[in-house]
Amino acid sequence: MNTLTFLGRGSGYHITENNTSAYYIKNGTMLLIDCGETVFKTLLNNRLLDEIEELYIIITHMHSDHVGSLAGLIGYYYWKYHKSAKLFYPEKEKMKQYLALLGMIEDEAYTFVKGKKFSIDPLEMTVTPVKTLHNPIINAYSYHLNFIDGNDIFYSGDSKILMENALAFLSAGNFIYQDICISENDLGPHMTLNKMVELIPLELRAQVYCIHVDGEDYDAKAGAYGFSKVKEDEIINRY
Ligand SMILES: [Zn+2]
Ligand SMILES: [Zn+2]
Repeated sequence: MNTLTFLGRGSGYHITENNTSAYYIKNGTMLLIDCGETVFKTLLNNRLLDEIEELYIIITHMHSDHVGSLAGLIGYYYWKYHKSAKLFYPEKEKMKQYLALLGMIEDEAYTFVKGKKFSIDPLEMTVTPVKTLHNPIINAYSYHLNFIDGNDIFYSGDSKILMENALAFLSAGNFIYQDICISENDLGPHMTLNKMVELIPLELRAQVYCIHVDGEDYDAKAGAYGFSKVKEDEIINRY
């Protein structure tokens, strides 16, 4: 079963949960999805970079709970391990400008992964971005992770809409990681629990994992409708 492990699952202004970010590791290669304010410190605290030969980072959008510690991670990885992280974001010029302001130079501290989609051979995975709807002034992207073996994954990032053909995707045994907010109305920037209950039949909800959590009693409310919780890394804060 192909699943993601999480460094945090909170929404941007959550005061106790870490920022939503996930990773997948295989054959010494890590794919990290997003790198918000809390992520670099959590990676360090858990020594998750020590055994990594190659680091791929994909970014969903430029809100600080998704890119806030990206320059710290890239700089540290280059300084400590003398390796360049491989970065993917569909809007390269914006990302390049953002990182340059923080002193990170392309083809030195990091390189961009080329192409509109790409494969990561050690992970036996293809990564495809899909533009989504989130914020009127910042474009946002969801990602398809297609594996050679086993189920595929759709990662929403921050999105107010559900992926296309979600029910067929879930019925085929695949998983969706969806930002689902319970304290927002249906006109807000995120998918809401109310809308998800309308859109996903009960028998498929266990294959939908809640990310970007907010509000009071989140687990009880989302769980009562049959949606799944994400698994946080079991070693978080062991050191
Ligand atoms: Zn966010
Ligand atoms: Zn956002």
